[in-house]
Amino acid sequence: MQEKGTISIHTENIFPIIKKFLYSDHEIFLRELVSNAVDATQKLKRLASIDEFKGELGDLKVKVSVDKEAKTITVSDRGVGMTAEEIKKYINQIAFSGATEFLEKYKDKGDEQQIIGHFGLGFYSAFMVAKKVEIVTLSHKEGSEAARWIGEGDTQFEIATAEKEDRGTDIILHIAEDSEEFLEEARLKTILDKYCRFLPIEVEFKEEVVNDPEPLWTKQPSELKDEDYLNFYKKLYPFAEDPLFWIHLNVDYPFNLTGILYFPRVKNEFEVQRNKIQLYSRQVFITDEVKDVVPEFLMLLHGVIDSPDIPLNVSRSFLQADSNVKKINSHITKKVADKLGELFKNDRKGFEEKFDNIGMFVKYGMVSEDKFYEKAKDFVLVKNTEGEFYTLDEYQDKVKPLQTDKNETVVMLYTDDQGLQDAYIQTAKKRSYDVLIMDGVLDSHFINMLESKLEKVSLKRVDSDTIDKLIDKDEKQDSVLSENERESLKTIFEQALEDKKPNLQLENLGSDEAPVSITLPEFMRRMQDMAKTGGGMGMMNMPNQYNVVVNVNHPLMGKIIRSKKEEKKTELARQAYDLALLSQNLLKGSDLTAFIGRSVDIASR
Ligand code: ADP
Ligand code: MG
Repeated sequence: MQEKGTISIHTENIFPIIKKFLYSDHEIFLRELVSNAVDATQKLKRLASIDEFKGELGDLKVKVSVDKEAKTITVSDRGVGMTAEEIKKYINQIAFSGATEFLEKYKDKGDEQQIIGHFGLGFYSAFMVAKKVEIVTLSHKEGSEAARWIGEGDTQFEIATAEKEDRGTDIILHIAEDSEEFLEEARLKTILDKYCRFLPIEVEFKEEVVNDPEPLWTKQPSELKDEDYLNFYKKLYPFAEDPLFWIHLNVDYPFNLTGILYFPRVKNEFEVQRNKIQLYSRQVFITDEVKDVVPEFLMLLHGVIDSPDIPLNVSRSFLQADSNVKKINSHITKKVADKLGELFKNDRKGFEEKFDNIGMFVKYGMVSEDKFYEKAKDFVLVKNTEGEFYTLDEYQDKVKPLQTDKNETVVMLYTDDQGLQDAYIQTAKKRSYDVLIMDGVLDSHFINMLESKLEKVSLKRVDSDTIDKLIDKDEKQDSVLSENERESLKTIFEQALEDKKPNLQLENLGSDEAPVSITLPEFMRRMQDMAKTGGGMGMMNMPNQYNVVVNVNHPLMGKIIRSKKEEKKTELARQAYDLALLSQNLLKGSDLTAFIGRSVDIASR
């Protein structure tokens, strides 16, 4: 038999398009051909298992070989093979229409980034690197004749009988001049490692099996030990520290999904860890850009996801709208929340120990997904300056008795810098108030979220006001000074701080509290924080809105008023102000120099 023909299509010269197309991704031809070989082998195994195929299976390895002299790459399998009729049907018609459809979709896009995975181009992706492709194949069906198909990158093909002893298919690529890089063994090995690493049939290259046909995620969780998960993690990320824990995903309804997600130790390193999840479809590597499949807040996780139900040959925007992807997304969210809840319930102590690392996921998830918030609100932890952890409910119960203000609002105090805000923390502690540590990258968002979700709760940074105003219980302290004395004290401070034009506030505070303190109202500070983290609104240029609070009841104020000399009054006032700045690390430059000079003076008198 010898036959020539024309592949029936309407798009003329589709091959130059295939060739130019996806320039940076030409390497996927190997994935397509090897996975076809794997498919053919699995089909044969299935036929054998239902007794449709009665011959010897024998060695079923898929073999990839390269001949540098002849400039060919060959992918061989011992799978089902094809008859000449089947070649015409599956290669000339079906595969071709698949490739045409694929190109129709993408030829105008021009944006490679738009395309996730490139399934669908299939067999014809061989023409991205080959000028001529031969298929030599012998069907598994009894009495079949071997066939050879030759295509040269145009719509003509040739099909003839051939000599082939062994069942299965050889795909022989005659590599084009501009693609000779693929004749390098090292390059081929790299491509195999990337795409074929976990293919379900053994793949041999240079007499070595290059894949693990039964990766961990395909096994039953009940058969696996912690050690297995840790070893698999090491395999995936040889340089990473051990993960904290993992989730084995295993769903078959309403979609198919398996995989293992690991929680790495991330601390506050937000960006470096992204794009570590690998997406597979039936053990064929597709991409490590899982942006639309995995919820944004879980992009920091590591591991693998395998699903044949994720449409791989469509554009990003379509993927986002795909209902399977949406379901997968919310399934993963739910699984992660359940796992965390379980850890919290079964091992509170262990959970607390891990919380510095997982806190960021949890908070990110709560801020960005309502469904996750609903589950996580029961196990998210807050930590106070004593290093104690509380759930939100526990913490509200703890601080309610002492930290409820006159409006029945529970005021939670927090610090984002224990070193810098120590004086304020100590003042709060004198009142037996509790102070939370909120120094994570996401904490300002977390705080906003808590306030919007929790009723009658407000969070205030410990230095945003004087302690009595932070938690205003409407208990007025009496003033030690008379009305006249207050007036003159105000004038003294106004003169002493003439160059600063401060927002002066005279308050009756406890005599044991700081004589002068600098506060930045919570509201103003949040505006500044938001501007800093890109919340926009051009707030960065806003003048600082610090308040200077003078504690009328501090003994120093009496001393200032009763001082005989004018200079002495101003000097003491200025000294008290500078000390307040100093405790906030706000005293800088010439003001700092002047302060030191003055302090030396005072000390040496
Ligand atoms: P897909 O794999 O998505 O079906 P391809 O274009 O990759 O599309 O392949 C088209 C068809 O050609 C396959 O469905 C299969 O029937 C046939 N085929 C390709 N490679 C082989 C092979 N190595 N052995 C047997 N059949 C093959
Ligand atoms: Mg295929």
